[in-house]
Amino acid sequence: MSNTALFGDKTIIEERQGEAMEMEGPVASNGKKLFLESYGCQMNFSDSEIVASVLIREGYTTTKNEDEADVVLLNTCSIRENAEQRVRNRLTEFKKRKENKPSLVVGVLGCMAERLKTNLLEEEKLVDLVAGPDAYRDLPNLITEVEGGQKAVNVLLSREETYADISPVRLDQNGVTAFISIMRGCDNMCSFCVVPFTRGRERSRDPHTIVEEAQELFDKGYREVTLLGQNVDSYRWNLTKKGEIENPEKPTVNFAQLLEMVALVDPELRIRFSTSHPKDMTDEVLMTMAKYKNICEYIHLPVQSGSTRVLEKMNRGYSREWYIDRIDAIRKYMPNCAISTDIITGFCTETDEDHQDTLSLMDYVQYEYAYMFKYSERPKTLAERKYEDDVPEEAKQKRLLEVIDKQQAHSLMRNEQAVGKVYEVLIEGTSKRSDDQLFGRNSQNAVIIFPKGDLQKGQYVNVRVVSCTAATLLGEVVVD
Ligand code: SAM
Ligand code: SF4
Repeated sequence: MSNTALFGDKTIIEERQGEAMEMEGPVASNGKKLFLESYGCQMNFSDSEIVASVLIREGYTTTKNEDEADVVLLNTCSIRENAEQRVRNRLTEFKKRKENKPSLVVGVLGCMAERLKTNLLEEEKLVDLVAGPDAYRDLPNLITEVEGGQKAVNVLLSREETYADISPVRLDQNGVTAFISIMRGCDNMCSFCVVPFTRGRERSRDPHTIVEEAQELFDKGYREVTLLGQNVDSYRWNLTKKGEIENPEKPTVNFAQLLEMVALVDPELRIRFSTSHPKDMTDEVLMTMAKYKNICEYIHLPVQSGSTRVLEKMNRGYSREWYIDRIDAIRKYMPNCAISTDIITGFCTETDEDHQDTLSLMDYVQYEYAYMFKYSERPKTLAERKYEDDVPEEAKQKRLLEVIDKQQAHSLMRNEQAVGKVYEVLIEGTSKRSDDQLFGRNSQNAVIIFPKGDLQKGQYVNVRVVSCTAATLLGEVVVD
């Protein structure tokens, strides 16, 4: 069984597994077609929109048909070993394709590019081009190098790059919801995690460019933005890590203030954000959320483990008690706030007792959703260097299944609690189940399906939940 997420109306795998992305063609075409496939987290999908923007400016059109591609780029994920394996398999397919079409340019972007650098190019000979997450502006040059018969690499990590001036093209979006990257990189050193090595140092984006992007999206008809960062609570503009002002001439902005600035774009624009870090989530953020109706009552607060001993080994910077205090604070300011989490089972030295601590924490919080993973040792991380990956595979698996079972029970219970309640839903599109039904999400991020009537995506509508399963809420429109 793979790592599993219980989310909305279906069970999904959290690392999205290779989705081709497409949009309308450029103003002046260079006749070349780009096939761009993305893996992994929301951040990667958001980055792919920057990549597409950079190449569309150069005259490329995007295609979902790999047969007609001149350039194939895979935006990759390194977070767990199986994520990398999927990309390797895909690259092997493209290598075969190149035998029949030698002019095809195949490149790897993102975390695997950064982690493996020239390996994929020189040793495994799987690709022509390797570009790390901070090198996307350089892609046109790198592709030209490859077309000139060279192999091309740029894996330099930057302390400044935020792509703030690049207006991302919205790939495969529903025209209602969009992502906005507010920061890049991560300075936390969770001992299991490869992200600080693949995405570099943390840096925040100019808040004014974030507000402008939100305004532009709203003007185009979008009604929800999700602010993205590995640790949004440490967003800071003109502030040092200690919260001191860097340049007294300039205004300072922390995450709570940024939330407020975006919330003020328009009351009809919903705001979500991901990911919060328990060690940094402040009451100021919670108070700002409670103050603005258009900031959704939903927090993704990854716990990873319910055992303080394991959390210390993970270098997460908080204890079980601290985490519980943050949960209590959320409930105090927003009693109806939905909470989801990430859990890793079988981290180094985890005992059955530690695992029981995770299960009891889940019982305390009763999460709406959870993304659940078996620990996967990653090269160069602190855990790989310092600890033995000593929990047997069967124990990791058994614990994962227990965590999934518990989450399923909690998700069902949460959904049952929603039956009979009326929620404001932002309509995102036609349900996959039937053309006669629409789907949308409430503020708490639960997906609700209901009859179409005369309604359209992008509208807000009040829906009463009439029935549910562990994964789905079904509703009827409430007419005032
Ligand atoms: N920055 C976010 C945070 O701190 O919670 C999450 C970043 S990571 C892309 C998403 C999730 O992947 C983590 O919360 C963790 O549960 C999981 N993860 C990261 N490294 C892992 C590993 N080596 N093995 C298993 N799961 C891992
Ligand atoms: Fe990885 Fe921790 Fe940074 Fe999240 S906060 S990206 S888990 S190092």
